[in-house]
Amino acid sequence: MEHEYELLLEKSRERNDFIKRQMKYLGKFNMKNFDHVVADFHEEAFALIDCLKCGNCCRTIGPKMNEPDIKRACKAFGLDQKRFVAESLVRDEDLGWMVAVMPCPFLRDDNACDIYDVRPRDCDDFPYTRERGIQRALGRLAFNTEFCPAAYLIAEKIIERYAPGITK
Ligand code: SF4
Ligand code: SF4
Repeated sequence: MEHEYELLLEKSRERNDFIKRQMKYLGKFNMKNFDHVVADFHEEAFALIDCLKCGNCCRTIGPKMNEPDIKRACKAFGLDQKRFVAESLVRDEDLGWMVAVMPCPFLRDDNACDIYDVRPRDCDDFPYTRERGIQRALGRLAFNTEFCPAAYLIAEKIIERYAPGITK
């Protein structure tokens, strides 16, 4: 991972308790156009962060894979579906199938994804900052700031906009 991104994650971990508290606090208000504002922050953060120089989510957080995701990935990669499920996935009671082997078996050394065009929806959505109803999911965003430098930048932008003056 790019050194600059490691430093961002270091800072994110130092500030994690504060970020969690702020996200919990902001989750209580009804903020107008919040989804759109956060989607703009998402674009701004990913204009600065290049996932190909990071790959940390693919190394640390196993994505969810639903049945169509599994089918598509196996077809694209020529894998036997039963064997792939048995060897690489684990069933979570609430979330369903998840990649169990980290780093993800589809991650290449250069941080590219071997099945990028047919990657699981969960991978495409991460860190979930373009979704509707993001205000209800600020706790998840706070959690993801520990792994994703872009999520950290987005969380800081939210705090700067909606809770300025509170710095720690
Ligand atoms: S499927 Fe691709 S994008 Fe998803 S975690 Fe694995 S390497 Fe990353
Ligand atoms: S989504 Fe976040 S953690 Fe994943 S590669 Fe991009 S910047 Fe890194």
